[in-house]
Amino acid sequence: MTHVFVADDLVAAFRAEGEIVIVGASLAGLRAAEALREQGFRGSLTLIGDEPHEPYDRPPLSKQVLKGWVPADHTKLPRMRAIDADWRLGVAATGLDRANRQVLLATGEKVFYNRLLIATGVRARPWFNPEEAALNGVFTLRTCADAARLQAALQAHPRRVLIVGAGFIGSEMASVCCDLGLPVTVAERADAPLVGALGGVIGDIAAKMQRDAGVDLRTGVSVQALEGDTDGHLRRARLSDETTLDVDVVVASLGSIRNVEWLEDAQLATGFWGVACDAGCRAFDINGVVTDNIFVAGDVARAPHVLYDYQFLSLEHWDNAVFGAEVAATNMINLETGRRPHLPLPSFWSGQFGVNIKGVGVCSFGDEIVFTQGSPADHRFAAAYGRRGRIVGAVTFNHGKWLPYYGAMIERSAPFPPPPPGYDKAGDLTPMPARFPDPRVPTGIPDVVLTGHDPTSRGAEFRPKTS
Ligand code: FAD
Repeated sequence: MTHVFVADDLVAAFRAEGEIVIVGASLAGLRAAEALREQGFRGSLTLIGDEPHEPYDRPPLSKQVLKGWVPADHTKLPRMRAIDADWRLGVAATGLDRANRQVLLATGEKVFYNRLLIATGVRARPWFNPEEAALNGVFTLRTCADAARLQAALQAHPRRVLIVGAGFIGSEMASVCCDLGLPVTVAERADAPLVGALGGVIGDIAAKMQRDAGVDLRTGVSVQALEGDTDGHLRRARLSDETTLDVDVVVASLGSIRNVEWLEDAQLATGFWGVACDAGCRAFDINGVVTDNIFVAGDVARAPHVLYDYQFLSLEHWDNAVFGAEVAATNMINLETGRRPHLPLPSFWSGQFGVNIKGVGVCSFGDEIVFTQGSPADHRFAAAYGRRGRIVGAVTFNHGKWLPYYGAMIERSAPFPPPPPGYDKAGDLTPMPARFPDPRVPTGIPDVVLTGHDPTSRGAEFRPKTS
């Protein structure tokens, strides 16, 4: 009886006491801190973030902020509850000393932890030539400071905007330029926009949407050089189709880089795709052994997923940051039997060219696609992706209310092609090849990627010389 009492006491102390440090004070970091307090953690909580701002929301940056509807500094994340934390903002973590359980800061300070959450996200991949990247008029978009600068440049009526890379964010920016009445060129090395995430069948529809809206879309084309004047202002761009464009604004939308450099000597399973962790958000060490006191959440995490052959899934999505943070928080203060899995069914949304695009599952895991509802010609449809006779993903254009129907089927690996839901059935229910690019061919890196089975794999490390 006494023995049980002592064990219960220890568990209660583990739940409520100790020193928890969260590195990365953005969406995942904040939501984890809130969940820890919500679940009764009363110990010390420190949030370390290298940005000087309180946590803010990034999705509006490429949408409402660029359109000028919302100032970049008005995107602060709502607080779900008080968290009584020691905030260390504007200070980067530069190292992790696991033997002494300390996070090393740029100031030279050391912060002790007995449980640590890594939530350092990703940053924008910069333009490949540093001299050209420094020209006045060359932008990337990840932070609210980036968005404020880019919004001001768009507001100044540039002669032409060039967007390099037609993933979701590049395409959203092209759409904003059209809304603002700005001439815009999009250069995409692949055959169509959005191909990495949604394949060539949907990419062709996205390409038509862009061209119909007046975008000068150049596919199969890379940007080879940017040129400025003697004052350091961007003036023109040279493209691989041997044309030259006079441009005042270039936005490099080339995907992202995981913020893992500060973990270089920590002997964790870190690399190109982020920090590998188990489905309970516990980090793996470099030998693939799971750690007990280091957790990972948000864009920087990659974890094996039961629905996708247990491959490690890397996900740069808002929902994944929120739900991953909540699961990490639960597991940080619970022992084995109280732990939960984070098995996200990826979902995303994007607004561009007047179309609301939504998706669920990992579309790029599929090799076939079938239009199940609506009509692609009207930009109002649902389509499902399949692999080996099972549904693995779905996308809707202006038809988002049907997404839960497909999501439920993906969760139970239902047969592909799926039965149409009996409403607004598409004319032709024949599956066709989804036309995803060969992973070895350099294209933009999508924000949902299956990264193989090895926690220490660096995967296809592609460092482009040109866009
Ligand atoms: P982040 O938000 O990247 O936060 C990580 C934080 O850690 C940052 O503040 C970073 O500066 C900090 N940090 C990094 N290294 C260190 C260090 N060494 N020390 C201290 N701090 C450090 N998702 C959707 O689902 N739908 C959308 O429509 C959508 N639109 C988007 C539009 C834009 C323009 C962008 C940029 C993202 C968009 N996203 C969208 C993605 C979504 O915003 C991310 O999934 C989400 O921000 C991930 O949160 P996070 O906390 O994991 O990472």
